[in-house]
Amino acid sequence: MMQLAKFMGYSDQLDARVKSVYLITTLIVGTLLGWLALAVFVLHAYDAVPSSMAIIAAFLMVYGMLKQRYFFAAKSFLLLLSFTQMVVSIFIMLGTSGGVYNILYLMIPQAFMIYDLGVRRERLMIYFSIVCTVVLLFMSQLMTINPIVPIDASKAVVVQLATILTVTGIFSVVFFYFALQLSKYYARLKLASEVDSLTGLFNRRSFTETAAKRFYNGNTSPFALAVFDIDDFKHVNDTWGHPVGDIVLKEMASVIKNHLRTSDFFARIGGEEFALILDVGEIASTFKVLSHIKELVERTTFRAVTGEEIHVTISIGVVVYNQSIKDFDEMFRQVDFSLYHAKRNGKNRIEFYE
Ligand code: GH3
Ligand code: MG
Ligand code: MG
Repeated sequence: MMQLAKFMGYSDQLDARVKSVYLITTLIVGTLLGWLALAVFVLHAYDAVPSSMAIIAAFLMVYGMLKQRYFFAAKSFLLLLSFTQMVVSIFIMLGTSGGVYNILYLMIPQAFMIYDLGVRRERLMIYFSIVCTVVLLFMSQLMTINPIVPIDASKAVVVQLATILTVTGIFSVVFFYFALQLSKYYARLKLASEVDSLTGLFNRRSFTETAAKRFYNGNTSPFALAVFDIDDFKHVNDTWGHPVGDIVLKEMASVIKNHLRTSDFFARIGGEEFALILDVGEIASTFKVLSHIKELVERTTFRAVTGEEIHVTISIGVVVYNQSIKDFDEMFRQVDFSLYHAKRNGKNRIEFYE
């Protein structure tokens, strides 16, 4: 199945709307084959066979256009063909018995799925589609139609069931697909807004959010806030180049992260600055955890592409939450101040705010 889709030019990288064209075309072809079977085996409407075959062949041409990457043409051909197919079945072949005109309602979600509201000509096609649907619905109700395939009361029940199946079936698949796409986008967007792409750590934004939350819970659950800054990182970049600097950042982040507990919150809040929120309320245990991290970084050997060994150290500023701290901004200022002291007092050290 996937092999066939690939042969038709389908790829996971395609725009979601182009993917919808594949989906809808396949749904229509499948449905038309079902209706063809219905026409032959139940309604005995053999006259309908050639035109049905012709219209199925026409829908298959949409795949050809997609394969050639004529996306707008494929979308519009699909839309016009869908309308043509409905006009033929409602106004020429079957008439309105069995409520077959209800299938017209599918034209509106179809237009929204395949066209991009943000592109002018595509937006116009959506409007066009809505207007056509309304006009055709009115016409189907107001005109007297003498269909080629007369449908008596017993057959009307079958057509009605087939119509209900078609409409609910296609609606279900389409909305399922739509909801799936939406949740995928949402997950991607959430990831992009919370995670730093280089290190995979949380970014500054999620740090600020989490830290502010922790601050307001400070009374009930003690915590400490630490900020790390790599010492003389400019020197690493200047000596081995920016890409190697990136490797150091990435590896250092993962070394520290592997050392932390899952309850600790670790984020990259700037170029070579990291923040850590620890579930610890006392200075002694906070110092122990941070000393471990500081030594871990010192001990780690990073490698340049040439194989040369690189060593870095970090300076850490830290504040343990206490009730005299007014708000998160104040706490962050204190941490920053401690970090500044750690740098001034010789780097590769930990300074508490006092
Ligand atoms: P200090 O010990 O005072 O912190 O000195 P430093 O050189 O680390 O500090 P400074 O703030 O002067 O320089 C930080 C450097 O970090 C400068 C910048 O090029 C580098 N940097 C910031 N973000 C990135 C990044 O994403 N990748 C790489 N490779 N370098 C970065
Ligand atoms: Mg810095
Ligand atoms: Mg630095």
